[in-house]
Amino acid sequence: MKEITSEEFEKEVLKGGKVVLDFYSTECPPCEAVAPKFEGLAKLYGNDITFLKMFRQQNKPLAEKLGVKSSPTLLFFDNGKQVGNSLSGGIKRTDIINQLDNMLPAERVKEIKSLIKPSVSEFDVLILGAGPGGLTAGLYLCQSKVNTVLIDIALPGGQVSTTHEVSNYPGFIDPQPGYMLSHNMSEQTKQCGTVYKVAVDVSKIDLDKKEVIIDEFETVRAKKIIIATGTSPNLMGIPGEKEMKGKGISYCATCDAKYYGDKEVVIIGGGNSAVEEADFISRFASKITMVHQFDAFTANKQAQEKLFANQKISTLFEHEPRAFVRDGDKIITEVENLKTKERIKLTSDGVFIFIGMKPNIELFKDKLELDNWGYIKTNEDMLTSMPDVYAVGDVISKKYRQITTAVADGTIAAIAIAKELS
Ligand SMILES: Cc1cc2nc3c(=O)[nH]c(=O)nc-3n(C[C@H](O)[C@H](O)[C@H](O)COP(=O)(O)OP(=O)(O)OC[C@H]3O[C@@H](n4cnc5c(N)ncnc54)[C@H](O)[C@@H]3O)c2cc1C
Repeated sequence: MKEITSEEFEKEVLKGGKVVLDFYSTECPPCEAVAPKFEGLAKLYGNDITFLKMFRQQNKPLAEKLGVKSSPTLLFFDNGKQVGNSLSGGIKRTDIINQLDNMLPAERVKEIKSLIKPSVSEFDVLILGAGPGGLTAGLYLCQSKVNTVLIDIALPGGQVSTTHEVSNYPGFIDPQPGYMLSHNMSEQTKQCGTVYKVAVDVSKIDLDKKEVIIDEFETVRAKKIIIATGTSPNLMGIPGEKEMKGKGISYCATCDAKYYGDKEVVIIGGGNSAVEEADFISRFASKITMVHQFDAFTANKQAQEKLFANQKISTLFEHEPRAFVRDGDKIITEVENLKTKERIKLTSDGVFIFIGMKPNIELFKDKLELDNWGYIKTNEDMLTSMPDVYAVGDVISKKYRQITTAVADGTIAAIAIAKELS
């Protein structure tokens, strides 16, 4: 994959015909997840479209000029003009394919697609999701000599890989960087021999047939499935959010905080994630305004004490955002005072949103018994309402969602399955 700098932009991109350019950063799990998709697609489309990479941290002025405010961001060019939509954040392979297809004549797209050969593989157990729950299940199954495949739409690690520090996972005296903890968990499971199919698009899940289709052309079957798909950040669902998602509005401090050096930031939320991530973002930003709907934070007391002692952070309780509006390089967050209904405008360089999570169940929600909040119900062996379908970790109905509880669920499901299969 050719890497270019700002100086080469004109020659390689503007005068380069059809080009897709990936702005990436270091310590950026979504960038690492998109890289194998980008490289795979370069092999398919590379004769027609040039695939280039640029390191965003070292080419900041150009990135800013092009409106790149999040990593990774893919930009598409045709004869010097930007075409289609820019893609950023957790980018799906199919989204890239759609953009590439639009840049080529239909006949050529057909020829390219005909090069893809469908395949089928079979395993004893298929684990969907390689966060702490899925990785632990994979480890125990592998150590029981059960033929297991782990499938993830991102790279292994789950939410832990985007958490800057973990201080409550037993076995470590000092707080651990989240990406190291998840890297170690993943390597342990991989070295045991579990098969990994990660950073793929999960196109279809058929729980009856115990079959998952990835990247549209690869079918993976198993005798049993473990769902370990975790949760995703809730969106505010207010005007301007969708348009500025990845373009100044972020849900991942580890990925984007470093771009707010000496800049002003608004953080929405008041739970553990919001308060802990605010502390991390304050290492970079010069000023942070926290907006929270209640009259006090709900985060743990220790994290709150740290936050209140931080001179860079001010708080706006009993306020809720109503809209985000772009104003040149800045974002205006319109917030409403929930008591007086008065609205004020907060101007900042970026906004981080941490307002809770929702279970990742979209592709199979109609098949399983769920609780009132949409989380999967399981029995004490982690078996769901469907035979041979288990669920573990944050995606299941339970009171406490932590790494330790996800790891415990994965352990239980794997031992129960290994016993059944033996
Ligand atoms: C900001 C933040 C800070 C946190 N800090 C801590 C902490 O300090 N200590 C602690 O104990 N806990 C912490 N947590 C909670 C902890 O991260 C979770 O409880 C834990 O990661 C849950 O593990 P999991 O395996 O269930 O799910 P996840 O870690 O969410 O992993 C789920 C995996 O499934 C994948 N996936 C999603 N959909 C699909 C699909 N359709 N097909 C295939 N794969 C899919 C995802 O890509 C992901 O890799 C924190 C959470 C957040 C958000």
